[in-house]
Amino acid sequence: MGSAILFAFYVDDVKWLHSAKKHHEFDPWHVAKGVSKKLAIVAKRKDCEGLGEWIPSIVNHLRWRAQTCEGDAEVLKEKRVSVTHHVTSRHDWPGNRHYHRCAHEPLDEQSERRKLWSSPESEAHKALVRTVKDKRLLKDLDHLTKSIHTTTLEVFHSMYLKYLPKRIHFGYDVMVHASMIAALDHNNNTNREQAVFQDGETVGEPKFRISWSKVHETFRARPAVVKKDYGYMTAMVADVLSSVTDLMDMRLDRTHIMAPQQTPSRSQIIFQTQQFSRLK
Ligand SMILES: [Zn+2]
Repeated sequence: MGSAILFAFYVDDVKWLHSAKKHHEFDPWHVAKGVSKKLAIVAKRKDCEGLGEWIPSIVNHLRWRAQTCEGDAEVLKEKRVSVTHHVTSRHDWPGNRHYHRCAHEPLDEQSERRKLWSSPESEAHKALVRTVKDKRLLKDLDHLTKSIHTTTLEVFHSMYLKYLPKRIHFGYDVMVHASMIAALDHNNNTNREQAVFQDGETVGEPKFRISWSKVHETFRARPAVVKKDYGYMTAMVADVLSSVTDLMDMRLDRTHIMAPQQTPSRSQIIFQTQQFSRLK
């Protein structure tokens, strides 16, 4: 979910932040990436053949758990163990308080046959259980219950460098104003739709970007979004031009420094000048 970047903190908000009880959350994507890397290393072992096939599903499952636990860490932890049963083609199990069976529909014969089920006795399965039940991961799960994503903030920080590159030193004023422009750019272009082909045989079809994943060693497709819209800048530039034009008009209007049309008499001018002059 994209969201606008808040540009200003008010003093009261900061005070409130310090006094409130803090609850730290991790981005499930980052935790899932760590799990994926660990499993990818184990999957390279000869005795863990077949584990690599399961990595994308296990990672998706971790994100799904965070999204569907409704803020309950216990549910999240029970769902965590379910993946170790599912990979062995076991879809219900005793012992849990909240989550006793997989949430998916019963698998048909074809799906059942197509999956590379893992044997509970295999080294690959033991390695998976070790990773899923890892104590550090278990601690991390307490910080995933709200399924908070930092993607939008990371995208903003990356885009911010377009306006304020790190290799150049900027003064305070430039930092403030360029940050405002970066925030406007972000807020006006967040939640962009997926782009579609405008012509050719595939007209109307959604566009994707294909990239190679080093971790999963496979090609992946990501939706390509429409180009940024800088239309909001037109109004800003128009305002700037209007201000400049007003300033120019003021400079061109010289009536305030020109002599008045009615000139006083010569003797009056001499008298007034001598009255205020230092050279009497
Ligand atoms: Zn299942």
